[in-house]
Parts: sequence; C-alpha cells; structure tokens
Amino acid sequence: MSREELERKIQTFVGKAIGPPDVARDAVSEGAIRQWCDAMLDSNPVYLDAQAAEESVFGGLVAPPTMLQAWSLKGIEMARPDPDAPKDLQEQLHAVFSEYGYVGVVATNCDQQFDRYLKPGDRVTATTVIESISEQKATGLGIGYFINTRLTFVDQDDEQVGSMTFRVLKYKPAKKPAASEDSSSASAPAQPKRMRPAIGHDNAWWWEEGIANKKLLIQKCESCGELRHPPRPMCPHCQSIEWGSIEASGKATVHSYVLMYYPEFPPFEYPHAIGVFDLEEGTRFVSNLVTNDLDAIEIGMPVELYFEQVDDELTLPLFRPVKA
Ligand SMILES: [Zn+2]
Repeated sequence: MSREELERKIQTFVGKAIGPPDVARDAVSEGAIRQWCDAMLDSNPVYLDAQAAEESVFGGLVAPPTMLQAWSLKGIEMARPDPDAPKDLQEQLHAVFSEYGYVGVVATNCDQQFDRYLKPGDRVTATTVIESISEQKATGLGIGYFINTRLTFVDQDDEQVGSMTFRVLKYKPAKKPAASEDSSSASAPAQPKRMRPAIGHDNAWWWEEGIANKKLLIQKCESCGELRHPPRPMCPHCQSIEWGSIEASGKATVHSYVLMYYPEFPPFEYPHAIGVFDLEEGTRFVSNLVTNDLDAIEIGMPVELYFEQVDDELTLPLFRPVKA
C-alpha cells in the first residue's frame, strides 16, 4: 500500500472517459428555460419573450448559458444511485483513493466555457474525461490529490457547444486532536458534531442576544422598516446602516424545500428536509424542517419554530410542522 503503488494505479485513469456519453433526457425546451429563469429570478427577454428574442441578435429564444450542464444531468437517479449498477471509471478512481485512506472529497473549482447559445430543440450530449491528477499536495484538510475532470458538451450535430472543468480534492483527512471532554472511551471515535456557525462582527448579536435566549431575532431597518435576514450591515432597500431588530413569533409557512439525500455528511440523518420558510413577519428564513413524515411536506404548509440543543455548545432554531 505504498504511495508509489497508489500513484501508479491512479495515473492509469488519466485521459479516459468515465463512461459512455450522457445524452440529455430531453431536448432544450422553452418550459425548462422558463422554470430555470423563475428559479434564478432572471427576466432577460431573450430567454422568455419569443417576440423580443426574435427581434434581438439571437433571432429567437435561447437558453441561459449557465444551464449548460443541466440539460444532460440524469435527474433523481443521481441522488439515489442503484447500488448494483456497475461503477463508472470516476467511481472506480475514487474507490482506489479510498482504499489507500484518501476517503475525503471536496469540490474546489469549476470553470465553464460557452461556445454558443443553445436554442429550443437542441439536444446536448456530455462526455466526461479524467483530464489530470495532480502530484500529492499538502492542504489544510490533509494530504491529497486534485482530480480534474473535463466535460465536453456537443449538440445533435456533434459540434461543441461548451465545456466545463471540474476539480475535486481527494484527501486523507488530517488527524484531529482528541476531544478533551467525554473521554469515557478513549478509542471510540468522537461523535461528529454539526458544523459551527461562522460568527463575526455582523451576526454575533443575532446568536448572543437572540439564539442564546431562545429568540429568533430579525434585523429591521430603522429608516425604511424593511426586515432582512441573514444579518448584514446595510439595508438593501434604502442603504441605511441604522438598524434594530424584532423578535419573530415563530409562525411560518413553507415557501420551498429540498430533501437532502446525498452526499451523506455526519452528523445529519438522511434524507432530511431543508426549508425556506416565510415568517409571518414577512421575511424568509432557511433551516431544517424536522419531521418523521417527509412525504407530507408541502409548499405552504404551516410550520413552527422551536429551539433544539443539538450538542453541548450549540442551540439552533429549527422548524417542525404545526400539529393539526
Ligand atoms: Zn432601509
């Protein structure tokens, strides 16, 4: 299990396609473009207004370039991979790394190039090649290797429409100093905890005055009265830096949500729901929606705030369905 052996093995993957090309399940369509623009709050008429698009330099509707990868993605199959399906070359490569202790993976860079605008009716095919693997690097996460994969997107005439380079770091997690408390079993791995919030100058008050006292505080502009969350120094509506706060009642409805299946990350249980909640005060808040009945979650359903002490030093404001 030497480093030389690992490096010899991984280099055999370089330059190879990870599997057969991914042919888009559907052609580029106005409906999908519209849904994307809705989600992105993009109102550019060349994506949405057939007549305006016709009079533009494009001569008709086009798709936002940043949708490039969306056309050839496999949908829910990606979130619930078939465990019996043969592994593609990328999965095999990651398995080799894991065998040598490089079990961590984190995405680090993504560069996209757009060669032409896609139009409704175009059909995209993506080919993914393992382009290169770096030398061993020492990083803050641990020692590891950067893997560059290159995706090339072509249209129905096999002409390139764009490309994307995606880089991940596959690493051997650095050993953490043993936890000082709870040394009841020295050999048992510490129970992973939730990530700590990033607390700084602009949001310390929210945690210290609010969450520590089991209050959900919402910042309020002293000039125009607009509410805003998360906390930040300036009002986006009137640019005032004078602000106060109000305490939210905790009554809310589900504005939107996702069920998180993958990648699994301790200490969360999967799947779990992450919601965007419309607070009754009139601003939105992102948190977990904690329920045993994920199938019952609906847009618009009433939810309520509660505070959960998730570990000995962290309390979080979470939401749960209001009992009927
Ligand atoms: Zn304001």
